[in-house]
Amino acid sequence: MKINKEINRRRTFGIVSHPDAGKTTLTEKLLLFGGAIQEAGAVKNNKIKKTATSDFMEIERQRGISVATSVLGFEYKTIKINILDTPGHKDFAEDTFRTLTAVDSVIVVIDVAKGVEEQTEKLVKVCRMRNIPIIVFINKMDREGKDAFELLDEIEQKLGLHVTPLSFPIGMGYDFKGIYNIWEKNVNLFTGDPKKDIEDTVQVNDLSTDEIDELIGTDSADTLREELELVQGVYPEFNIDEYKRGELQPVFFGSALNNFGVRELLDCFIEIAPPPRPKQSDIREIRPEEDKFTGFVFKIHANMDPRHRDRLAFVKVVSGKFERNKPYLHVRSNKNLKFSSPNAFFAERKEVVDEMFPGDIVGLHDTGTFKIGDTLTEGEILQYKGIPNFSPEHFRYINNADPMKSKQLNKGIEQLMDEGVAQLFTLELNNRKIIGTVGALQYEVIQYRLEHEYGAKCSYENINVHKACWIEPKDPKSEEFKEFKRVKAKFLAHDKSDQLVFLADSEFSLQMTQQKYPNIIFHFTSEF
Ligand code: GDP
Repeated sequence: MKINKEINRRRTFGIVSHPDAGKTTLTEKLLLFGGAIQEAGAVKNNKIKKTATSDFMEIERQRGISVATSVLGFEYKTIKINILDTPGHKDFAEDTFRTLTAVDSVIVVIDVAKGVEEQTEKLVKVCRMRNIPIIVFINKMDREGKDAFELLDEIEQKLGLHVTPLSFPIGMGYDFKGIYNIWEKNVNLFTGDPKKDIEDTVQVNDLSTDEIDELIGTDSADTLREELELVQGVYPEFNIDEYKRGELQPVFFGSALNNFGVRELLDCFIEIAPPPRPKQSDIREIRPEEDKFTGFVFKIHANMDPRHRDRLAFVKVVSGKFERNKPYLHVRSNKNLKFSSPNAFFAERKEVVDEMFPGDIVGLHDTGTFKIGDTLTEGEILQYKGIPNFSPEHFRYINNADPMKSKQLNKGIEQLMDEGVAQLFTLELNNRKIIGTVGALQYEVIQYRLEHEYGAKCSYENINVHKACWIEPKDPKSEEFKEFKRVKAKFLAHDKSDQLVFLADSEFSLQMTQQKYPNIIFHFTSEF
């Protein structure tokens, strides 16, 4: 069957890291191997460098770049690889969390000198919650950094992973001689020449002979033997099933900038990383090889051109084959939709295509129909799960600054929220609107986009909210719940899907409230 063949050759993954660990550089080298780009520098770095900027054009420009690199598809050997971009900047963490619902595995990049950093911790935690298979790449081995064993320990401690090295460095920094590939049993010598190819690796099946001494010198050879013995003694043997269940994480070492250790990573990746996996919906688990198409929206991106307000919705194909011009059910609105120009994404371009398979990302033009999390099917009523909202970190009232444009403002707010730029809460008491974001930068983006895309003006006003919790009474008819609603009326709001939300003004008052109302459940994500 063609579809099985197509499914089995797809690898859809994300690269996650703290900013500056080398994600962009690694992505670019991976694309080079696929022949998808001709030269370095082609992958735009989409990180937002400043946390607060009043230079709106800069925000726009950076947003535009991030759409260009949202999905990078290329072929390597017989494998179709889709890399989904995951912004490392913390203000865009929610975008990254949502993208992680569309990947089948991830590669985590760690800087050898800095070790495990804050964003890496957060993102890996999300991957672990979903049992996503993880490969670790320790980058910048050409620089002085932490001792390999120390770093492996740190990764286990801080990230809660269970690692096993599949390659091991010979020296580091100034003395970096290369890596021993435990997976393929060969030595790749480091020359510092990024053009040097892996053809130059030397097969070393038996480390006890002096073949290795001749390559790297006796001292280094002895150290390597000792270290590999230690590796064998301390770390478990690699097991592909444990890796796929998210219970064991293989580790590679290299230097992305020098294109060193990257091919080893990629060759192992295409062999072990899982093809598209089944996905849970609200009614049943859907397998990729089912004949009927299903998919879900995990990202929406606005058009860069302010004259066209259309957007691009990114749909992950979960099962069956997506076809151009075939009607699909948009489950939330119960409407059939047809798409005449669905896009596929390649390294440097997007292109209209006729069919797409599980694991692929389809870009659909949208004039405001889609919302993040929406499901498309061939008629079955089901909804994919797993795109929750978390409590925002920042809260502000949003006010209309141009009374003549209130319609535009409301429309703009609604559409920006559908894109997942921020979360909207409407106070129960007086219908005032509150915008919650992960980072302060979003407020500027929203204000700018409301003005330029919708012709509306807004202003913000501070409000003291510490955290949003989604409320679920064990018994909605109970006296306790009625009292809660009456006493806490000032702090109650509805989110965009009309779920009841409690806006706690401090950690203390949240705890007091939880204690006082034991039969009300306070959820910290919107999906429960
Ligand atoms: P990102 O923020 O994770 O996408 O990181 P980048 O790929 O932009 O890399 C951050 C900086 O580290 C850039 O200046 C890179 O040139 C540099 N860099 C990336 N990989 C290496 C490496 O292997 N060795 C060294 N010395 N620098 C590297």
